[in-house]
Amino acid sequence: MSDWDECLGAELHQLHRRGLLRSLRPVSDAAYPALTREGKRLINFSSNNYLGLAGHPRIIEAEEASAKRGAGSAASRLIIGHDEETGRLEREIAEWKGTESALLFSNGYMANLGVLSALLTPGDAVFSDQLNHASIIDGIRLSGAKKYIYRHNDPDHLEMLLKQADREGVKRKLIVTDTVFSMDGDLAPLKELAELKRRYGAALMVDEAHGGGVYGPEGEGVTHMLEVHDRVDLQMGTFSKAFGVYGAYVAGNRKWIRYLLNTSRSLIYTTGLPPAVIGGIRAALSLVREGSQLRQQLFQKSSRFREKLREAGFSIPSHSSPILPLVIGGAPETLRLSEALAEQGIHALAIRPPTVPPGTARIRFSFMANHDPADLDRCADTVIRLGESMGLVEQVG
Ligand code: PMP
Repeated sequence: MSDWDECLGAELHQLHRRGLLRSLRPVSDAAYPALTREGKRLINFSSNNYLGLAGHPRIIEAEEASAKRGAGSAASRLIIGHDEETGRLEREIAEWKGTESALLFSNGYMANLGVLSALLTPGDAVFSDQLNHASIIDGIRLSGAKKYIYRHNDPDHLEMLLKQADREGVKRKLIVTDTVFSMDGDLAPLKELAELKRRYGAALMVDEAHGGGVYGPEGEGVTHMLEVHDRVDLQMGTFSKAFGVYGAYVAGNRKWIRYLLNTSRSLIYTTGLPPAVIGGIRAALSLVREGSQLRQQLFQKSSRFREKLREAGFSIPSHSSPILPLVIGGAPETLRLSEALAEQGIHALAIRPPTVPPGTARIRFSFMANHDPADLDRCADTVIRLGESMGLVEQVG
């Protein structure tokens, strides 16, 4: 056995022992409220397909129609150019977000990585919420900028760090935050952040990965719901969650977007999105814009489920969101609960470190606008029963 084999084997064994080993399991119908795993039908609480659009016939038809123009886009956009539909989509995104310009990326991970590493230089300071997504963290690391991590959703701490950075004589300042925190479902205090941005002459970038499609009059995101969009410099978001497709965008004024087009390595050195995806996103964008009824259904269903758990004695976060975390603590207990839920027909996976901080492993429930209300009631009863039998009711919160 080589040194590598031995070390990797030992690492995997350690992960297993700590309840942190992950594996892939085949499922079918992941785009729908009930999926099938190993022949068993499970109600799906692990998807980000909040509006149920991933299975929408209008999107699938649009993808099929666009695929007739080619299976792939053949090269980086800066080498080969882009077809008309791609340009049209970028104009539609900018119009929807109320910005001068928008730029597509392959996915949200690459958007954050490319944008942050292009904008920030080692002389700059970046202020990042403690619970920001891994793609933001990785983009910051790649940039070499000086990082100031502020306590989760704590504008006072952020202000303290902004003052500290001014004393330290940094060049430029950028505040970056998720608008909806994916593992907790809570929202960033964007009004306060926008005010701090103004007072300290910083720039503000938001990640609407989980806010897009879900919040705002036309699903624009939390920035529009809170009416702070004109004070945000860069709005980033994905088409892989509520839109049900794939891909991501960054929207902002012309100069910023032009700069990113010229400097974002995850855009420059990669192939453009395939025509089918572009067609699918355009159809999804129009469904999202006209989707207030879907948003209403999503919030009604998620509120009812939360209420049932709260009445049964679970400590449930008060914010209204399609993401509900049941924080259990240790990874092995969380895994056990997730497995017990699966036996009862519920697909709600354990979220463990390093995705969440140590000691805060949790079951995360994500809701869909097209979840069946009877299924949801039955699942809430099951969660309550299992939580009680495992002695979790007082502990979770
Ligand atoms: N940002 C956030 C907040 C996310 O939750 C995710 C996806 N987990 C991403 C970015 C990455 O998006 P994508 O899946 O499109 O790469």
